[in-house]
Amino acid sequence: MDTLVNTVRRAVPGFTERALTYEDFLACCRIQGIIVETRQDLFDEYLSRRGRRSRITLNTGLTPLYKTFVGFHALGHWFGHPGDQEFYLGSPGWLRHTDLEASTVGFLALSPWPDGPPYPRLEKAYAEGDEMQFWVQYPRKVLIPPGEALGVTGWRPAHLRRPASEERETVIWWTKKTVIVRHLGQLA
Ligand SMILES: [Zn+2]
Repeated sequence: MDTLVNTVRRAVPGFTERALTYEDFLACCRIQGIIVETRQDLFDEYLSRRGRRSRITLNTGLTPLYKTFVGFHALGHWFGHPGDQEFYLGSPGWLRHTDLEASTVGFLALSPWPDGPPYPRLEKAYAEGDEMQFWVQYPRKVLIPPGEALGVTGWRPAHLRRPASEERETVIWWTKKTVIVRHLGQLA
């Protein structure tokens, strides 16, 4: 997942640094040479690499927040699954592995994470009206003291103790629900 996020970071200015907007999505599609169209469709988002130019179709009537999420979901597929021809999204909670990856890109577009890797991992998402709810595993970096790093606690002879400089960092994951009502791009 972090590899995909880093790929998107290189391609999309501001990704994970600030809340992106639908205009950011359109700008990225222009650079990538992807046609964006909006029309009544079975799916909320449809990415096709068939034909002369790749195309992202967005369903009509999506709210600005969800439309931005869905657009970056499509770009998550674009950058993450370069060999495949077609992708679509019928509901934000879609739990197939590849869609969860793409939706993590959509989530990070709305909810920045400037701390760098490891990046939050999306568990599921839900959209209703102007609101989106995300269940997310957030990473927290913690230090393991030298003794515990060796699986040993309590007193140890000096020559067996590891210096404090050998404290190691590890990451624990905790799940939290994050609600986004609308993101900064729509505040004006
Ligand atoms: Zn998808």
